[in-house]
Amino acid sequence: MELKTKLSVLADAAKYDASCASSGSKRERPKGGIGNTEGMGICHSYTPDGRCISLLKLLLTNVCIWDCSYCVNRRSSNVRRARFKPEEVVRLTIDFYKRNYIEGLFLSSGIIQNADYTMEQLVLVAKKLREEENFGGYIHLKAVPGASEVLLKQAGKYADRLSANIEMPVQEDLDKLAPEKTIGEIEDTMGTLRAEIDESRERARADKKSARPAGAGETFAGAGQSTQLVVGASRSSDSVILKKAEELYKKFKLRRVYYSAFSPAEFTSPELSRTPTPPMREHRLYEADWLIRHYGFSASEITAQIADGNLDLTKDPKLAWALAHRQLFPVDVNRASRSLLLRVPGIGVRNVDRIVKIRRFHRIGLADLVRLKVSMNRAKWFVVTADHNPDVFNLDKTDLMTRFRRPAEQLSLFAPGPATVVMGEI
Ligand code: SF4
Repeated sequence: MELKTKLSVLADAAKYDASCASSGSKRERPKGGIGNTEGMGICHSYTPDGRCISLLKLLLTNVCIWDCSYCVNRRSSNVRRARFKPEEVVRLTIDFYKRNYIEGLFLSSGIIQNADYTMEQLVLVAKKLREEENFGGYIHLKAVPGASEVLLKQAGKYADRLSANIEMPVQEDLDKLAPEKTIGEIEDTMGTLRAEIDESRERARADKKSARPAGAGETFAGAGQSTQLVVGASRSSDSVILKKAEELYKKFKLRRVYYSAFSPAEFTSPELSRTPTPPMREHRLYEADWLIRHYGFSASEITAQIADGNLDLTKDPKLAWALAHRQLFPVDVNRASRSLLLRVPGIGVRNVDRIVKIRRFHRIGLADLVRLKVSMNRAKWFVVTADHNPDVFNLDKTDLMTRFRRPAEQLSLFAPGPATVVMGEI
């Protein structure tokens, strides 16, 4: 098969893996080499459904001996198969990098022969890029669950980020949909990576303390590890998914958990639902995940007020929580604790910190919040300022729905958005 054809088959096959954001790495350009992950080295670019497009995102092969029913590449699927040689991936990465098409490589694979053989092939690509091509750009490798510790250690030596995809929140789902996988084995892999990352950070701290130059190649997966959960292929609710994500953050200090809305494709198992998971469900999970990581919410707090275990698709989870806890509002921005301010819809972490600083010098009014670019259409119903006191209890349900509904129309890039909500300001 021609390289171009392989590329079209294997780039297409990789699009279902969402765990590829490239943040958090600090690898400098090697002497006489090319590529780095600093500053402009990595551009973050996302498709509207949250997938990263700035990396060359490939599968080494879409041949797989396992049979996960939600996956187009499973053993029993009729999809067209292809396989790269490691040196072909190296050539493509370097050629594309030099043409400025990409900032790095995201490489995953179907399971060839067994976990160790697959991991070995992935490591070989990264090793060639680093040692033969002197490539300093970003590399994200898939950590194959069940691969030996030796291979995982090598992977972390060359890659900036590793990800072992857990895919399902409970073993029961895996038993039904991915019978070769076990949560235990996947978490063992995550545990090995965690231990190596911690050790490498410890070494770096010791080097810094003793003013020793940090040894080249000693960093283990500098951008940490991540994972992916497929949403909507099983019956597990958002509540179960978020609890699992929270547990993984705590246990393995993952940098990110990615959520991938299941979309039935021609070759996914016919037993699975033919209705695609609404992208809004994925979006709400990302918002809830953000609340857990940056706003001090727990998964159970976010999901306590939802009846069927799934997040409300019509309003973001922070707003839903605030409306269910109206007795706590309005919050006085001039007196409330940081943790309470973080719970106000429309005020993001950065603005909470600014508010805490500014109020030392003068009493904050509505104009101050406008200047800080707080999302006023939400926040003003939940805050007391020096010159404003809303009547949150007298907002009836219909009124609330009208006030907080997102605009349905597509805005132009330069139009002033009446209710634009970005991550970080939820
Ligand atoms: S292991 Fe499962 S999810 Fe991964 S490529 Fe094979 S069938 Fe697809």
